[in-house]
Amino acid sequence: MDEIANIWYFRWQVPDKGYTWDQDAVPLAYTTWPDDRGPAPLAFRAEFDPKGKAPFLVIKPDTERLRIYDPFDKRTFSPPEKPDEQDLFLKFVHTDLSETGILQFANKYGWLGIGDTLANRPLEHGEGFNVWKNAIMQMQPLVDVWRWIGQRDERELEKIVQWSDDRKGVKIEHGGIVAIREEAYPGTFATWPPGDVYGPAKLFLLLSVNKQLKGVSPALLFERGKLSEFWRPDNLLSALWLQFFNAITGKKQYRACAICHKLMDVTGARPDKIVHVRCREREKKRKRKEGKS
Ligand SMILES: [Zn+2]
Repeated sequence: MDEIANIWYFRWQVPDKGYTWDQDAVPLAYTTWPDDRGPAPLAFRAEFDPKGKAPFLVIKPDTERLRIYDPFDKRTFSPPEKPDEQDLFLKFVHTDLSETGILQFANKYGWLGIGDTLANRPLEHGEGFNVWKNAIMQMQPLVDVWRWIGQRDERELEKIVQWSDDRKGVKIEHGGIVAIREEAYPGTFATWPPGDVYGPAKLFLLLSVNKQLKGVSPALLFERGKLSEFWRPDNLLSALWLQFFNAITGKKQYRACAICHKLMDVTGARPDKIVHVRCREREKKRKRKEGKS
């Protein structure tokens, strides 16, 4: 476990009073046209690009201090979470796509770090509701595909993998679309049995996830007086993609809890671990209550 924990270094901040939605915020980038044609009609620009549309998540003005934590270490969450709880990238993709759902996530774990400078609040940043929604909707379908591959769920994979009639091309569509021809990956195609769904689904995952890892870079850090190598995400969103990356490569292992059916981190756990500690305790309490009545 220690070996895994030392591969990355990242600390994130959460304001003690949390965030709030600014319903009138306008990002600075939307106050002029990109080609310097002068001031742009704001509402019009935002119509063009939903990323510029309010509301924007902003830090509450009465913030007194920032709480520092490590997204890779559940013990540093507030309140701390048990090691078998879901990893943060899974909580992220399960976030309700509403102002309330996103605010709850941000107030506990901080914003994503992909904000814009706001024109109506000089020197302040804000993160658009639509920017959050896009970020969740980009990762969520890929987590589905990863689960289906892991659970050998051919029925679900068949719905998203479509082979061309000549069998030389394949299209994978779930959230995003990837279309590939044999010429581009001759060696890879050759290893797939005819009509295979697993190979194309894995290639889809590879191409889509790689695009999101640009915010993670190797770095040197001091560790007990020694220089060691680490992976360093540039913001929370990159850290979540790095967690997902670690799940895909198998550095971390997951199993669906037999009670709540959410994936739990079972890295290093015994093979007979099938439920969350919390779920087992709740179940015991329920049975005890039933026994009494
Ligand atoms: Zn559970």
